[in-house]
Amino acid sequence: MEQRIPVTSSEDGAGEAGRRPVGLISFDIDGTLTTGHGPGPITREMVERAKEWGYIIGSCSDRPVGDQKNMWETWGIEVSFTVLKHMLDSVKSRFEADSYVHIGDTDVDYHFARVSGFDFLQVQTMDPEPWMLSPEDGQCHWGPEGRTR
Ligand SMILES: [Mg+2]
Repeated sequence: MEQRIPVTSSEDGAGEAGRRPVGLISFDIDGTLTTGHGPGPITREMVERAKEWGYIIGSCSDRPVGDQKNMWETWGIEVSFTVLKHMLDSVKSRFEADSYVHIGDTDVDYHFARVSGFDFLQVQTMDPEPWMLSPEDGQCHWGPEGRTR
């Protein structure tokens, strides 16, 4: 049977149960993160900020799980999950959150997001999320390759 890990974040009592909403973000890697082959537009700084803001983050990619773990280690970011693409539904089972979003660049991402009960944001066309904006100038600074792919 699945086991859900309750995640609460309780500081200032917003939200129905006296806690702030918790969001979970799953990142595709290739074509989505700047570290991907090819490089996508989402930078390390953005991902780190999402984590600092309390999002549960991790990756869901066609890359072997070991590769995904190595990538996060290289980036120096500790993540909550690293799964293969068809295992995205297992992430929903493991973590209790108020919203589940998968960010990716292909129809395969869209497919697995939908069948796993995640919202899907396509990285080439999405509006920037608040955690993507620079605290210095309020702008979204996509990675060096931009969103041309
Ligand atoms: Mg991809």
